[in-house]
Amino acid sequence: MLKGIYCMNRCIAMIVWNESYLLLIERKKYPYGFALPGGHLEENENYKDAGRRELKEETGLNAVKLKYILEDVIYDNGRVCSKGSDEPHICKVYRAFYEGSLKLNKKETKSIGWYSMLELYDLALKTNNYLDKLITEKEWENSPGVVPVCYKWFVELGILGSGYNFYKKRKIFI
Ligand SMILES: [Zn+2]
Repeated sequence: MLKGIYCMNRCIAMIVWNESYLLLIERKKYPYGFALPGGHLEENENYKDAGRRELKEETGLNAVKLKYILEDVIYDNGRVCSKGSDEPHICKVYRAFYEGSLKLNKKETKSIGWYSMLELYDLALKTNNYLDKLITEKEWENSPGVVPVCYKWFVELGILGSGYNFYKKRKIFI
């Protein structure tokens, strides 16, 4: 266990729509890339509590309603997470309905914004190239696409079209 922080091996991610625009954050830490807002559950917190807290911390928005979408087990080939666990994490994805407006928290994210589907497709193409090792880790860190696990969910949920089924060849997602 690193840093003395206990990891519950539980995390949450939230899909937030503003009409046809999807809320993405650019992560400051590994795994780099554009991702759904979310994060680890803390001790004594349930998924919805953690979702409300993370959405507020990362984007300034208040979640007024959360609707369960899917559950996934995510792992990174034994790599240790930010809280020191190398165990698989159970991640639940919720759709969040919100009030308020975006407020960047530079401690939490590099950027936040509402992304059109065309912009999302561009980010997904970059993820394809990254998974195909056509761009280096450094290039990815400087100008990333969608983090692979979000890419996978977007395909499963039909947010990215069926042409984006590249992930099925992959075994490891974070
Ligand atoms: Zn963890």
